[in-house]
Amino acid sequence: MKTEFSLTQLADPDIAEADKILRACVHCGFCTATCPTYVLLGDELDSPRGRIYLIKEMLEKDKPPTQEVVKHIDRCLSCLACMTTCPSGVNYMHLVDQARVRIERDYTRPLPERVLRAVLAWVLPRPGLFRASMILARLGRPLAALLPTPGAAPATPTLLRRLKAMLALAPGGLPPRGATAGSVFPAQGTKRGRVALLQGCAQQVLAPRINQAAINLLTRHGIEVVLVKDEQCCGALTHHLGRDADALARARANITVWTAEADRAGLDAILMTTSGCGTVIKDYGFMLREDRDFAAAAARVSALAKDITEYLGGIELQPRQPHGDIVVAYHSACSLQHGQKITQAPKELLSKNGFVVKDVPESHLCCGSAGTYNILQPDIANKLRDRKVANIAMVKPDMIAAGNIGCMVQIASGTSVPVVHTVELLDWATGGPRPGLN
Ligand code: SF4
Ligand code: SF4
Repeated sequence: MKTEFSLTQLADPDIAEADKILRACVHCGFCTATCPTYVLLGDELDSPRGRIYLIKEMLEKDKPPTQEVVKHIDRCLSCLACMTTCPSGVNYMHLVDQARVRIERDYTRPLPERVLRAVLAWVLPRPGLFRASMILARLGRPLAALLPTPGAAPATPTLLRRLKAMLALAPGGLPPRGATAGSVFPAQGTKRGRVALLQGCAQQVLAPRINQAAINLLTRHGIEVVLVKDEQCCGALTHHLGRDADALARARANITVWTAEADRAGLDAILMTTSGCGTVIKDYGFMLREDRDFAAAAARVSALAKDITEYLGGIELQPRQPHGDIVVAYHSACSLQHGQKITQAPKELLSKNGFVVKDVPESHLCCGSAGTYNILQPDIANKLRDRKVANIAMVKPDMIAAGNIGCMVQIASGTSVPVVHTVELLDWATGGPRPGLN
């Protein structure tokens, strides 16, 4: 694709990067076929190629984005299916990340939307506030039925529609708190390694059992696990809202505590059980490439970052207890399959440990969770969830496994089949409790 940036514009490293990405696009349109919003809405401007044109124009003209541009960029899930499909290696992720930052900086959203986004950006990365908000949402759930049902879905969902979506996603109850930051879990038997485990923000409130399963599994196989003190939200949530200053501050804070831990006691890896976080942490090196003080440490952290299944693939797990022929529908989170290109490891681990693993039809399509997307774009998100749940039902599973809490909550809101984390099943197979019973 031909671009027309001035030399002054190209002096900006972000614009130079965008220029490189745009030039790689040959506008073949292969990506449209696997883009969930294009598949659902059929509008070229809701396809990757259409959005690439919109972003190109916005950046070249260097003017505040129009309402139309914002509408179509907001509808993008950042699922990155387009990157998997693209034969030219277009890095859509870095392009749309820039577009979101530009929109946040230069576009004035209506007041209710600004307030909602500010609240999400403030609450979600803070587990204490998130816990309190979930309790409030649970209390407010009965009110959801009393709220008027909006008529035909407008191009941008109303605040009311979004509030209803938020209340619908709130869990019926919260589990007790999990292990605390600063805890170290010693390896059982001969020590074979030492890792940090990302504590996550929403996940530690909604499902601390996931990281507990990871800790049990790892320590049982000789790996010491540390929950690093003063670790923060990875920044993914605010990064996807275009609030880069917040996301980068969190990245720097994490890099500081993780590298200090690695220098102090050694770390073979920094593990994530939330693949949405993993994609961003693996990108810290890129995000901070221009930061003289942090570039090297950020690259080091990105190199250490691994999804839990990626790490477990290098360990011979010891199955200990039979669990029958459980049929597991494996839901491949977009952040894992498209963001991190991890497609086989989770399925191979489950199969090797005795589960009957079934691929879900249309597995490349997002479930609609996508960070805060299911709150900000509930109509599209619900359609994608219903499509995902229908596809899952086709393989008649006993359980659904996924590697990302956002997907788990989203899918569970549309099915009665237990939705569990891959690591919970592996923990079960190697001596832990049966998951999916609560
Ligand atoms: S598939 Fe790649 S090269 Fe083709 S239009 Fe999409 S982004 Fe551009
Ligand atoms: S990230 Fe997903 S929703 Fe956005 S353009 Fe690419 S395929 Fe479509």
